[in-house]
Amino acid sequence: MSEPWIPIVMRRDGDRLIMEWSDGFKGAVTWKALRDACPCAGCKEEREKPADPFRILKPNELVPLAPNAMPRVGRYAYKIVWSDGHDSGIFTLAHLRELCKPLE
Ligand SMILES: [Zn+2]
Repeated sequence: MSEPWIPIVMRRDGDRLIMEWSDGFKGAVTWKALRDACPCAGCKEEREKPADPFRILKPNELVPLAPNAMPRVGRYAYKIVWSDGHDSGIFTLAHLRELCKPLE
């Protein structure tokens, strides 16, 4: 198996993350898209539930979430520590790559 693409550059750009990959691909993904794709069990379960029409947004859901840190986990994944304290989502490089939209 060949080595997966790895990010050469990762930087924060306002509401998105810019990633430049080892094969030359440059992409961006918004923090919102990342959070919506959070692979942790809790978020998955949350996404699979039908939306509750009576649900009231908590104050922390009204401010846009931002990452506080993005530590590397092993060789092929990153964890995102969010401003609301959520940190159980581990994003593999393949998943990050999939979420990246090409930059002009
Ligand atoms: Zn999550």
